[in-house]
Amino acid sequence: MKIQILGTAAAEGFPGIFCNCLHCKKARELGGKNIRTRSSAIIDDTIKIDFPPDTYHHVLTHDLDLSKVEHLLFTHTHMDHFNPKDLGMRTPGFAHDFPYPLEIYGHDVAILKCKEALLHAEPYFSYTLMQPFTTYQVGTARVTPLLADHNPLETCLLFYIEKDGKTIFYGHDTGWFPDATWDWLKDKKLDAAILDCTNGLLPERRNHLNIEAVKEIQTFFKQNNIIDENSQIIVTHFSHNIGLMQEDLEEIFAPIGIQVAYDGILLCV
Ligand SMILES: [Zn+2]
Ligand SMILES: [Zn+2]
Ligand SMILES: [Zn+2]
Repeated sequence: MKIQILGTAAAEGFPGIFCNCLHCKKARELGGKNIRTRSSAIIDDTIKIDFPPDTYHHVLTHDLDLSKVEHLLFTHTHMDHFNPKDLGMRTPGFAHDFPYPLEIYGHDVAILKCKEALLHAEPYFSYTLMQPFTTYQVGTARVTPLLADHNPLETCLLFYIEKDGKTIFYGHDTGWFPDATWDWLKDKKLDAAILDCTNGLLPERRNHLNIEAVKEIQTFFKQNNIIDENSQIIVTHFSHNIGLMQEDLEEIFAPIGIQVAYDGILLCV
């Protein structure tokens, strides 16, 4: 399984779209891996997770062919993950030579808002309303949505994805997992886990995780044999407020075997 992480910032981007803080100034100066866009990932060219406002930028920067995407999974509808109006460009006149329908998966708020945004594009999209802890066939993958700790006004999903004999856990946006998610994960195996690290060294671990919480999750995964020495853990979704550049994050995480994502990083699982 090939998974490319297309964006690795929190909602405002890093540097923030309107921000002049010292951290954002430093990120602009250093450039490279310190420039982070809004979060999304693509698996084997055909399954996409989230559709942020930076998607067009991702297409140009990473030379993506989004006409190959057959399945689109939504974690939740915060604007940094969810820009459904742009999906209207996947209709005749705006796009040629693409297969349809595109199957969209998500919980009720995501599906409702997509249907509203794509009202006049009915034949080109179909929908699967996902319920947490139920497994769905998504092309050749099997996807089980798990509960996040993120927005109390919406059921936000994390994804356990099985494909080609491998398993990955897409773990953001979320704070410390709800008990039901911990229980479900207890007897599973993971080849890779992509985890929220929005809060860096800041103390907050509700709604988004911080570095200490990521380390505790790694320990739990090890103690319960969910991961082994071949499994990968990758952290992502960084806020400018943490003030940590790519190099600082790597200094913290490399000694404990955790990879720090940057925009466009390609993982082979
Ligand atoms: Zn987010
Ligand atoms: Zn800033
Ligand atoms: Zn969010």
